[in-house]
Amino acid sequence: MAQSLLDCVQAPIELDGNKLVTTCSIGIAIAPEDGSTFEELCQRADIAMYKGKEKGKNEANFFNPDWMQSHNQLLALTSDLRVALNKNQLEVYYQPKVLLHNGALIGAEALLRWNHPTMGFVSPEVFIPLAEKSGQIVEIGKWVIEQACENLLQWRKINASFTIAVNVSSIQFKRGDLSEHVKNILKKYHLPGQSLELEFTESLLMDNTLEVASELQSIKKLNVSLAIDDFGTGYSNLGYLQNFEIQTLKMDRSFIHNIYENKKNIAIVEAIIQMAHSLEMLVVAEGIEDEKTAKIIEKLGCTIGQGYFWQKPVPADTLNSLIQLNKVNGQNLTFKEPIRV
Ligand code: C2E
Ligand code: MG
Ligand code: MG
Repeated sequence: MAQSLLDCVQAPIELDGNKLVTTCSIGIAIAPEDGSTFEELCQRADIAMYKGKEKGKNEANFFNPDWMQSHNQLLALTSDLRVALNKNQLEVYYQPKVLLHNGALIGAEALLRWNHPTMGFVSPEVFIPLAEKSGQIVEIGKWVIEQACENLLQWRKINASFTIAVNVSSIQFKRGDLSEHVKNILKKYHLPGQSLELEFTESLLMDNTLEVASELQSIKKLNVSLAIDDFGTGYSNLGYLQNFEIQTLKMDRSFIHNIYENKKNIAIVEAIIQMAHSLEMLVVAEGIEDEKTAKIIEKLGCTIGQGYFWQKPVPADTLNSLIQLNKVNGQNLTFKEPIRV
């Protein structure tokens, strides 16, 4: 029955001359094994449905009791996250971005950290999706932008052209007040729009709703740069890159990792760099872990790099020392030597 429902939903729909295809995910719970009340069964069917979505959507799943534990853990984490901001458990770390040809420190990416009272550091790959699902990402995201700008104000006193990139989730765009918040924060810290870059993923542009488009336009008006994160892993409509005047493509680290052992990745990276250059966009390579990779990426025409080779994400104080060091050493820093305080 589930399969026939999936097939039915998948049948193309004709709308204004366009063929649309929709898919769905189905979760199934059976009484009495999976529960005896409507609420229990519904909750378990929901868990089974989300499992299907995680696995790539468009499938039906029967509930599996093994999923209950991880579901409960995630619920507990979501509830802990609600107090994390007020209890000062969140901290913004920064990872340097450098010019590949001389290793000069030109900016950093703000990366959120959660120091959980009993679990220690929880990965953003775990808690950001939870914050997105529960809507907390809106408040947390605003806080990250403010923290980054507060720090940036200090750092631009040392290096006037230093920039910060902040990750933003599509939920923040859809709320419609992201541009207003960015505008207020830039004003509060007397920062020019150019000093801030917002990173988002390709899926946002595919989600071509009016709210997203109008938010992107308002952000552009503030002169804030827009960057596509993890570029190459999603599905990009190249026309949108032009329409929204995206300035930067950040190549996903899956292409960069061990590039010298993988000819196909060299070809992909080269193609992305060439395309970006013809569209007059900047390219950043993230996930550079060694000198050999840095050299290959530079040779392929990429100008900016980020990765463990230079520095892992560090607290604001450490980045401050790095900026001071870079200012003193200036051109002496080369990508042959990782930057260390
Ligand atoms: P991202 O924006 O693509 O960030 C790059 C990730 O790659 C970071 O992981 C960084 O620590 C890691 N990385 C950098 N260089 C290397 C390297 O050389 N090797 C390896 N193996 N990894 C490297 P992190 O900090 O765990 O963040 C994961 C993701 O969480 C980020 O991916 C971003 O999508 C999300 N995230 C982090 N902070 C925020 C935030 O404030 N807001 C939102 N919406 N998302 C955030
Ligand atoms: Mg990023
Ligand atoms: Mg990325």
